[in-house]
Amino acid sequence: MSGALLIGIDGVRLDRLTAAHTPHLDSLIESGFLREGRIPPHTATISGPMWSTVLYGAWADQHGVPDNDVRQARVDGFRDFLDLHAEQHGGRPFALVSWAPLATAMGCGPVLTVDAELVTAEGIEGDPDEAGHDEDWAILDAEVAQRAVAALADGDAGTGIRMGMGMGTGTGRGTGRGTGTGTGTGTGTGTGHTAGFIYFGQVDGTGHRIGTGSEYTAAIERVDELVGDVLAALDARADRDEWTVVVTTDHGHRDGGGHGGREELEETVWFIGDRRLPGWDSFDSAGIAGYLLHHLAPTR
Ligand SMILES: [Zn+2]
Repeated sequence: MSGALLIGIDGVRLDRLTAAHTPHLDSLIESGFLREGRIPPHTATISGPMWSTVLYGAWADQHGVPDNDVRQARVDGFRDFLDLHAEQHGGRPFALVSWAPLATAMGCGPVLTVDAELVTAEGIEGDPDEAGHDEDWAILDAEVAQRAVAALADGDAGTGIRMGMGMGTGTGRGTGRGTGTGTGTGTGTGTGHTAGFIYFGQVDGTGHRIGTGSEYTAAIERVDELVGDVLAALDARADRDEWTVVVTTDHGHRDGGGHGGREELEETVWFIGDRRLPGWDSFDSAGIAGYLLHHLAPTR
């Protein structure tokens, strides 16, 4: 067992997730698990600190990412789980994201220490939240899924499509997502992918715009469809049994939309896994990286 796929869905409330029609996530739960978690007081209920927690395997009291906008030097001591996975298991990890600070030197970024692709799409300029076009997140999410399918279908498909060095500025979750400048220089080692991280943003975008009602639920259901596409590509691999999948979110949302405070609805997170490997029932957001690397719960 060595392959690891982490799917991050921004800003999904557990109660809305369980109420939504999500057959693909349900299929993972059926063979694996759905568990609830809680963000502790030292870590803000926003994307920068929490995706750092998930990807580094450490809470904000260690990595020191306080919000979406500040990058402190001590974060340089951390490497994301894809980076460590490549060191331990070989292969070339892929990271496909649409939120600029995950992949570029904007705000608290780059959070990812591996070479990540900031996915863009034709006609989309800047961060959708900033531009007031949160529906663009759905387009970006579809693009992310499509690229993930390609990466999983062909070990070298992720090369030569490096896009979008972000150049925008802003606040909130979005700190700007620039337009693509496609430097694309395929540098595949030919060893194939054994780990990946993909990020979907439309649920959070919908929550901010209109709250956590039916449109928010519909966004969750659209992302589930994309998860289904990605899982189908994974299932088609000859080495499928070597992989494990974890899906998680970075924070919840208040009823009217918004997060960053300490309400239970904002602090509640969840974990879905496709199988019950050792430690499945005890990891938290900071334990996902260790679980995917070692399939063991951290002692912390
Ligand atoms: Zn948000």
